Amino acid sequence: MNNDPASRIQDLRQFGEFGGVNPSVTDSSTYTFLEAHTMEETFHGEHAGCFLYSRHWNPSNKYLADALLAMEQTESAWITASGMAAITCSILELCHAGDHIVTSVTTYGGTFAFLKNWLPKFDVQVSFVNIADLESVKKAIQPNTRLIYTEAVNNPLLQISNIPVLADIAREKGIMLMVDNTFSPMIFTPAVLGADLVVYSMTKFINGKNDCVAGAICGPQSFINDLADVNKGSAMLLGPVLDPIRSSGILKNLHTLHIRMKQHSKNALYIARKFREIGLKVTYPGLEDHPQHELMKSMMNEEFGFGGMLTIDLKSHEIANQVKFISLHLKQIIVYPLY
Ligand SMILES: *Cc1c(COP(=O)(O)O)cnc(C)c1O
Repeated sequence: MNNDPASRIQDLRQFGEFGGVNPSVTDSSTYTFLEAHTMEETFHGEHAGCFLYSRHWNPSNKYLADALLAMEQTESAWITASGMAAITCSILELCHAGDHIVTSVTTYGGTFAFLKNWLPKFDVQVSFVNIADLESVKKAIQPNTRLIYTEAVNNPLLQISNIPVLADIAREKGIMLMVDNTFSPMIFTPAVLGADLVVYSMTKFINGKNDCVAGAICGPQSFINDLADVNKGSAMLLGPVLDPIRSSGILKNLHTLHIRMKQHSKNALYIARKFREIGLKVTYPGLEDHPQHELMKSMMNEEFGFGGMLTIDLKSHEIANQVKFISLHLKQIIVYPLY
């Protein structure tokens, strides 16, 4: 398979029905069956390529899903109306009452709140560990553990998850590894590194325009079929479908993701170095003293760089609250009112 994610998307040659350079947008909630038995068969998951109802599948979301599975090199993908919907539906599909999850002490705030405050209502227990400490990950696994959940680059500490080793640990225990790759699309291909499921908030880099909220789940065909099952699938029954008009917009933006990621990484490395020069305590995985800098190099698709996220530690809440304005003028960086 072509090694370059942008070319893999391009190679799909997704055209509109009249030869349009973009696939047509589906403006229908439901679909016509000219023969009654076709509807029944579609209900039972036969007839791939037939559409039943837009919450289940619709052609616009299918085009975007196909582009994402090409990017991620997974068998299948599913589009959701938010990153949280991708995360929560996947977890709810996998975990039943009495099950257990091992995750990082730091994840995106909404994910953390779901794991910490919401899942216990349904008797799913969660252990929070330092995900960079692989021994503590192993130790936290119990007989009822179903899943290791992590972010490839975590929010907000920018720790890098050792995906191949976490995948080995999961495989050895017969459990799943789910990776949120929101901060590092194209930089990491988690499924190739061993992850079973890859989830995204497409709200961030993938769409890249700050004009909508969306998500995606990439994984094995059997898992996506389960999610979409009309009688018991979490995604089908909880219903977080993305509107086809948004979905077609995201697909168009996906075609520039490779260029944007390279530039984000270039900008972030430049700013990280400047921040360090002016004496700020900065964390960026592209800096050589980042604890997982070498690990990141060993896993990343190098041409996309170290990503667009960096953090600065301003030491106290008070000082952080005083920062009024960070401006980037040409090649000058000024942080007010500290410097
Ligand atoms: C924003 C974010 C999410 C949640 O996505 P929404 O699209 O806002 O629902 C999940 N994970 C990470 C890492 C995020 O940054």
